[in-house]
Amino acid sequence: MAENNPTIFGSILRGEIPAERIHDDEHCIAFADIQPQAPVHLLVIPRQHIPSLKEAQPTDGALLGHLLLVAAKVAKDAGLQDWRTVINTGAEAGQTVFHLHVHVIGGRPLAWPPG
Ligand code: AMP
Repeated sequence: MAENNPTIFGSILRGEIPAERIHDDEHCIAFADIQPQAPVHLLVIPRQHIPSLKEAQPTDGALLGHLLLVAAKVAKDAGLQDWRTVINTGAEAGQTVFHLHVHVIGGRPLAWPPG
């Protein structure tokens, strides 16, 4: 599924770039963000290359739900009681890697609204 994925997350899925996987299943993997914005900052990414939520299809519903459930699992496993899940969608919204991913951010008070 990662064969035609030119993004850095495609490279991670193919094992070309190292990332310590804290979760790994047939649908997704999770690992720590390389530039953490909080004491805990994890990323959950599907194995399937969906560039962003814009391209997600109704048939991806189960996968998207799975990503959120895995996000909750890795957040709890990291010891978080409260956390924020973020899916940046499009460059103006802060998306830099065009492989859909869920940020899991926590370990400090988080302001709202975000920047
Ligand atoms: P976004 O800006 O929402 O597209 O998020 C992309 C995230 O990927 C950023 O928070 C980056 O710090 C993170 N990132 C980029 N390259 C790597 C990498 N090699 N390993 C882990 N995280 C990465």
